[in-house]
This record gives sequence, structure tokens and C-alpha cells, in this order.
Amino acid sequence: MRTFYEAAFFDKLGRNIVRACDLERLELLGIDRSRGLPLFGDYRMVMFGMPSLARLQKDLIQSLGMEKASVILARFGYDSGLGIATAISELYDFDSPEEWLKSGAVLRTMAGLAKEEIQEVKIDTEQKTFHMTGRWMDSFESVNWLTQFKPYEAPVCVTLAALSSGFASAVLGSEVLVKETCCRAQGHEHCQFEGRPIAEWGITPDDLYQKFELQSLEAELSKLKTALCQAREDLRQQHVEISQLRILAHQSENDGDIVFRSPSMAKVLTLARKVAPTKSSVLIYGESGVGKEVLARFIHQHSTHADMPFMAINCAALPSNLLESELFGHVKGAFTGADSNKKGLFVEAGEGTLFLDEVGEISPELQAKLLRVLQEKEVRPVGGVEVIKIRARVVSATNQDLKTLILLNRFREDLYYRLSVFPLYINPLRERREDILILARYFLTKLNIGSKGFSPSAIRRMQSYQWPGNVRELSNWIEYAVILAGDEQIQPEHLPAVSSDNSEDILPTLMESALPSLEELEKRYIHLILQKTGNRRGDAAKKLGISTATLWRKLHLHQESKNSSLRD
Ligand SMILES: [Zn+2]
Repeated sequence: MRTFYEAAFFDKLGRNIVRACDLERLELLGIDRSRGLPLFGDYRMVMFGMPSLARLQKDLIQSLGMEKASVILARFGYDSGLGIATAISELYDFDSPEEWLKSGAVLRTMAGLAKEEIQEVKIDTEQKTFHMTGRWMDSFESVNWLTQFKPYEAPVCVTLAALSSGFASAVLGSEVLVKETCCRAQGHEHCQFEGRPIAEWGITPDDLYQKFELQSLEAELSKLKTALCQAREDLRQQHVEISQLRILAHQSENDGDIVFRSPSMAKVLTLARKVAPTKSSVLIYGESGVGKEVLARFIHQHSTHADMPFMAINCAALPSNLLESELFGHVKGAFTGADSNKKGLFVEAGEGTLFLDEVGEISPELQAKLLRVLQEKEVRPVGGVEVIKIRARVVSATNQDLKTLILLNRFREDLYYRLSVFPLYINPLRERREDILILARYFLTKLNIGSKGFSPSAIRRMQSYQWPGNVRELSNWIEYAVILAGDEQIQPEHLPAVSSDNSEDILPTLMESALPSLEELEKRYIHLILQKTGNRRGDAAKKLGISTATLWRKLHLHQESKNSSLRD
């Protein structure tokens, strides 16, 4: 189900719609060049070796006892888990709460805490139901334990379990407890864990806070705790709202050169696969650069004559008389320069496919000839007498609205119906933003197989751009970036500076149109700032000089007024 937020904001402004498996180590790990410090995404990272962590574990246990040490470690883990979940969701917008949750497992594995495998996940953020099982292989805590102590009677991976709990709580939007059910430190081969909402474990939120707080520190921390709880609650509330907007995970495919994840492309390809084996003529609609020729080739490759030629011609690129001789051929001496016979593409395509790009640009005279060729299934080369039978299948494409051209008498209606037996529509890239990241990675891998990928801010930059030139423009961007970045990870500064990104000149445009109300202007300005900050609400609020909560409320209000005007 699409919610108003998706329609109103995310589609227009773009978010990084990713899955857990899309997270790539080389993209997330980086260096803050100005300070020379390691980064995880946009966040500073600190590294400790296993022996130092083992020492900390031992010191804590020996000085405080197992129980108190566990409380400290659990609290540290819980807050980290919550923080990491928040941070990663600021970097990427996940397909679904499930993908967001799974990203936690990927991140814990990347961070070297354990090799984590989630075996089962059931999460419903609206009903607040949650169940997760999985296992940790070589968890750092169990490995450290066994290097220092004998096998223990109970599980010892306290930090890891608390980290998972914090992460899962952020995703669900209410308290989840991940319990370790058996541990390598007990002599098992792996550690096994299970997560449920705390109520299902028979624990109240107070129990949980107590479990994760040190009694002796409670008084000192009470003020901080209240503030923290409030902030955490606000944050969680926001994430719940965001997570409710997630589009369900969609099937992703990589079909030859067609790389996509969006449902709209999936639909186009399903239709293309159905029509491919028939002889029907196909008309592909789409803005320039969306990949109409790629789709035409796909249809050809899935046809029963895939081994026959695929001939393509851009009808806008040639003057009418040349186009005619390219399509139908000519005989020697037909016109000046025709010093030999030429077969023409209809004949050369044999039983294969002839792709006519920008078919709306064909002149009226040639339209009449083309119609006759398609009706009679034969061509007469320019200057020739004899006709030649043709068997090629015609796939054409246009970025124009042919029905409008018909009304303007610029395109023949009978030819239109001949070409458009089976129309297909490819959406512009800005309307299928799920495809941007996988397309960008696809082009990058084609150009530089060892690339370190894109930084999260470079991804945000691509996601928030409008892509007037569609997939072709994206491909050009990546080529440009690869030249600048070489083997380094691609940063925003490696991407082309865009003057046509119309977000710059929205105010003059507004002034030219009917003068907007202050409310309308505010709404558009907020959207502009969101776009410029890659939809990071915190940054946007700072630029606007208002609090995140105020921004959030304004976005709600705009949407409500939009909904009520739709109802009126
Ligand atoms: Zn364990």
C-alpha cells in the first residue's frame, strides 16, 4: 500500500531505497580526509583489537562480578544498538522494517562482532509483533571468554545480545529483548539467540531499564535518563512513522542489460516477455534516455528469431529521403550518389527485428510509404521496380505523445494503430528511484570492477537528483565519476556539478507563475531544503532554523491540507 508520505515526499525527493544485502563494506568504511580518522558511513569509528576487549571483559568481571559487569556491558550494547539503527536509517532508507532489521546483522558481521545469521524474522511495526531467531558464529565475547576462562554455565555474549535488542527496539518502535539461548562459551558450537517484545518474555519496560541501568548510578543519571528517554521516544516515533512508509520488498532482477528493482520495470518486462515471442508490433513510450532501445533488444532476444539480425535506426537523425533509402533500400542510379544497389534495413533484418526510434519524427510522406510497407509486407527500393517481400518484426519507440500528434495532423492515425498493437511505457528514472542505486552500481562495475563503490553522501546526491536525462544521464555521471575518482570511493565531489538541477532556481520560477501564498511558498521552500539536504530532516531543520519536531509537524500539516483539498 502506498502512503501519502511516499507519494508526497519520497517519490519526489528520493530516498535510498535499499535492502540489507545492498550494504557494502567498502562503501561504508571510509576515512574523514580532513582529520584522517576512520569513518563508518558518516560517523566516526573507533577500533579496538580483540585482546584489549578481552582485557576489558576480564577486568570488569573480576572487579564487579559477573552480574554487575553484565549490566554495564548490556547497557553499553543496548545504547550502541539503538544508535547504530538510527544512524544506518539516516544513511539509507530501507525497503521494509525487515530489511532495516536485517541490516543490523550485516553491520554486526561487518564490525567483526560475530558472523551473524538471522534464521527467522517476523516483524509488524503496526501490530508491534516481533519474533527473530538466529545464530552468532565466533562471537567476540565467547571467543574472548574461552581464551581467559573455563566454559561457563550461562551464555556470556551480553554486549552482542544487548546490541541486537537495542537495534531491534529501534526498528519495531517498542522494546524488544534479544536473549542468547545457548552460547559457544557453554560448549556449544555456535551461539543461538531469540528476540521477542519484552512483554512476551514477561518483562516490563521498568524491569528492562533496571536491567540496563546500574542501581548506584540511577540517581545521578535520572535527569539525563529522562531527557534521553524523551529524545529516544521522539526518535523512535519518527522511525515508526518512517518505517510504516516503507515499500514492501520488491522482486529485483538483472535481465541482461536491464537492471532494475522497481515494480514498474518488473511489470514492463513481464509484458515484454509475453509479447516477445509473438509477431505483434510493439510501440515503446518513454522519455529520452530511459532505455527504449535496450527494451527493444530485450524483446528481440526473447523472440523466436533472436538469432536473426536486430537493426536499429533513429528516424530523427536523417533527412526524409535518406531515411527512406535506409529503410527500403535503393537501386543503383536512383539518385546522385547511389552508385550501387542497397538492400535497406527492412530487408537486412530478415526475420529479425527492425527498431524504429523516434518514430514520431517521420515525415508525413514517408509515413504513408511506411504504412503501405507494413500493410503489404513488401518494400520497393527507391528507384526500383520490383518489390521484395519482408518478414521483419517492427518495434518502434517515441518520447512524444503520438495521439496528440494525430490531433495536430502530424502523425497518421492508421500508421499509429499499425505500430502500436502492443504499447509499453517505461517510466522516467525519477519515478522509479529504487532503480538508481542498482543501476549506478551496475555501471560502476562495468567500468571499474575493483571499485570501492559510492559514499553514502554520493548515493544521497544521486537519489535526490531529478534525472532529466534518465538512465543515459546516470551512466554518463558514473563514467565521469570513475575518471575523477580513479580507484577511490566515489564522493559527491566526483559527480558532475549540475546546473540544470532545477532546485537552484525554484524561486524565480515561482515568481513567474501565479503568485503563491505564503503557506504554499513555505511548503515549497521546505521541500527544496529537504531535497538539498538529501532528505535528512535534522540537517533540513537546522538550515530552516526550526526544530526537527516543528519540521515534522509542518510536513504533516501540508499533507493534511493536501488530503482535504483532494477530498473537497
Ligand atoms: Zn555466546
